[in-house]
Amino acid sequence: MIGFRPEIQALGGYTPGEQPQAGKFIKLNTNESPYPPSPRVIRAVQQAAESGLSRYPDPMGNAFRYRAAEVLGVEPDWILCGNGSDDILTIVTRAFVGNGQLLRLPYPSYVLYKTLAQIQGAWSEEISWNEDWTLSAAFYADSPQLRLVFLPNPNSPSGTLVSHQAIGDLASRLTCPLLVDEAYADFATSNCLDLVRQNERIFVSRTFSKSYALAGLRFGFLVGQPHAIAKLAKVKDSYNCDALSIAGATAAIDDQAWLRDNVAKIIATRQRLMAGLDALGFASVPSHANFIWTRHPKRPSAALYDQLKQNRVLVRYMNYSKWGDGLRISVGTDEQIDACLALLQSMV
Ligand SMILES: *Cc1c(COP(=O)(O)O)cnc(C)c1O
Repeated sequence: MIGFRPEIQALGGYTPGEQPQAGKFIKLNTNESPYPPSPRVIRAVQQAAESGLSRYPDPMGNAFRYRAAEVLGVEPDWILCGNGSDDILTIVTRAFVGNGQLLRLPYPSYVLYKTLAQIQGAWSEEISWNEDWTLSAAFYADSPQLRLVFLPNPNSPSGTLVSHQAIGDLASRLTCPLLVDEAYADFATSNCLDLVRQNERIFVSRTFSKSYALAGLRFGFLVGQPHAIAKLAKVKDSYNCDALSIAGATAAIDDQAWLRDNVAKIIATRQRLMAGLDALGFASVPSHANFIWTRHPKRPSAALYDQLKQNRVLVRYMNYSKWGDGLRISVGTDEQIDACLALLQSMV
């Protein structure tokens, strides 16, 4: 090999959900929005494109920070912009976790956290959820090697939510930073944004990829206390967000009426999907996100996945060695979900 670090040679690498050619499949596998974004976002991106791509963008994305601060009820210097929230997770890992140190994540959850630790030459500790998807006692245990804890909330693939109280409790027992990854929080009944004020070790990340229907734009952000945000800004690429995504995300967060509407539609369809799965005898986990984790007591999930795919419906099949397998079905439009349910009905 040509001199790759051993950590990189050993990497399995993150395998993203399949992105087949547009139109061929009903795509319920990567938790994108089935609806287009707010028209105001498109206009803002167009305007930004016309008014000067020859210049570098604002390195801190201040237009976004000012508007987002108003919407979220913090000050602009509490916000760090990222090229998707994956960029935020990378920045935070690089800032806190060094070679040989330890990062914690729940299992099963978002696989990227583990990859980020591996790239750092760090260890990751995957702690299984309790059967009922609450945090196990081991997740609360502090240790001197522990440098960062990731908690996706709501979690993927389960769609379950850890309570505000439990997260406050967790942070008070840990001596390292806790990043609450709120990629799906807009679909949930609670979030932890207010905890950031109470504890400098709590950070909250958000993305525009799910509830704002902007996965293709690549924009996410972190909320933390200003002194920590200033240090994290030193770790990021100088121009980590481009002029188009800053303009688009600013218009998106400005259109909260659109967001409320979009989230309401998705939650209504989520209920329709849940009821449909129940009627077919599936065991599904009640979800706070834009997807449902489910399995059928009699039919293997892998076979159901294959049959759906043959019929041009793409869902996510997940197989966790220590936990078991299942299907994660993203909430699409009512028509897409009805088509998926009709196919499942013919299979079970
Ligand atoms: C989708 C997702 C992200 C990544 O979002 P991007 O902003 O598109 O990078 C982060 N965390 C979780 C748990 C996700 O499901």
